[in-house]
Amino acid sequence: MSRPTPLNIALLGPTGAGKGTHAASLSARFHLNHVATGDLFRDNLESGTPLGRLAKKYMDVEELVPDEVVDAMVEEWCQRVPKERGLLFDGFPRTNAQARYFEAMLQRLGRTLDAVIYLDVPDPEVLRRLEGRRICHRCQQPYHLTANPPRLAGRCDECGAELYHRADDTAERVTARLRVFHRATDPVLDHFTAAGRLIIVSGEGSLNAVEDRLIRACEGLRNRAYGFATARDRAEIARPPLTSPMAAHVARATRDLVLLGGPGSGKGTQAVRLSTKLALPHIATGDLFRENLRQATELGRLAKTYMDRGDLVPDDVTEAMVAERLGRPDAREGFILDGFPRTRPQAQALTEMLTRLKRRLTAVVLINVSDQTLVDRISGRLICRSCQAPYHATFKPPHQAGVCDACGGELYQRSDDNPATVGARLVTYHHQTEPLIAYYRGLGLLREIDGEQPVDEITRQLLVALRDLSPRGAFAIAGAVP
Ligand SMILES: [Zn+2]
Ligand SMILES: [Zn+2]
Repeated sequence: MSRPTPLNIALLGPTGAGKGTHAASLSARFHLNHVATGDLFRDNLESGTPLGRLAKKYMDVEELVPDEVVDAMVEEWCQRVPKERGLLFDGFPRTNAQARYFEAMLQRLGRTLDAVIYLDVPDPEVLRRLEGRRICHRCQQPYHLTANPPRLAGRCDECGAELYHRADDTAERVTARLRVFHRATDPVLDHFTAAGRLIIVSGEGSLNAVEDRLIRACEGLRNRAYGFATARDRAEIARPPLTSPMAAHVARATRDLVLLGGPGSGKGTQAVRLSTKLALPHIATGDLFRENLRQATELGRLAKTYMDRGDLVPDDVTEAMVAERLGRPDAREGFILDGFPRTRPQAQALTEMLTRLKRRLTAVVLINVSDQTLVDRISGRLICRSCQAPYHATFKPPHQAGVCDACGGELYQRSDDNPATVGARLVTYHHQTEPLIAYYRGLGLLREIDGEQPVDEITRQLLVALRDLSPRGAFAIAGAVP
């Protein structure tokens, strides 16, 4: 009897659905290489692989680790594991952009994705599970106040240490996390339903009952005798979100702008200039993230608990930071948002935030630069080790090669600015941003500017493009157009 062809599966489901437990037992039973992106990320960090060191550089300067670093870790893992065994991905792909990257990557490796299995647990049940979850401080053993209580209240059965409630397991945080999850995952489920490769498995009931269902699904897959989810099955698990959407409202007339552009497009420079000219705050999500960490705000402390555990900071935390920032008094009349949204689900998040503030997006400006130009610009970037002054090998060379004009410090190239990494960053940028651009174009909000012109000319064209976009009919511009 010949060995069955190895299965390649992605297991998706909300937080608290038990993906980790089931992924481990399924991979043992079906001889699969099993990976969860969170673990993979921590392993890379701890063993100091090149990708782990790259991720750490972002974390050390208090920046969010970009998605493409995780994508690259997944690809590197796929190449490394035994070829004769199948693959089981726990919680990946998270978004449609990642799904496209993922399928192309498997194809390069000569594998095909047999199915996406969705472990379905309704939101109220997830909330009950996580609100009651308690974890041992010392040995990490999980408990549940009602479903699996410790013998002695508040104490671990195994080691006697105190139990705690994770800061991200509160009702508010879980609801936010679920909102982000569904926003990102619903399109993934739709995509795989249309492709005829989605299997829906109920995650309710006992651990054993759920495991039996999953085993039957995998056996069916291996025997090519499994009924994939139909559009009707898919519709049945699409439930309204926990929080009801806002009633229709009249938006206030504000100047709410989003600036889009690839790495090296000059977006940051233009945002600062527009901020001065239009008298609007420039909200760069990287700065916002660092500010929250430094001031140890509630969200900053929450983000830090993830970073301290060696975890990626999840989207709902970033979104909450942006929502808080947009609600501050200085952004009352408008803002220039830079670095958010980066994906189509985040665009939806922004719409929801603005709706809650009774306002809506005025315009989205895209600074267009060709990939070749971006590669040339980024891969020539040099930074002073002492004073951080930026230089460029071609466009802004120092007087003496390798030496800072300002302080005499040594110039170096960031490890994510080398041509290979820049290429990977651009692939992710396009995967993430193209659906975003199409979305905003469809809404009639997109304004495109040619970014391959002198900096002053770009600023001038930006101001002209934005002039007719005020909801009142004209932008009040502080200072004249150059
Ligand atoms: Zn313990
Ligand atoms: Zn210097």
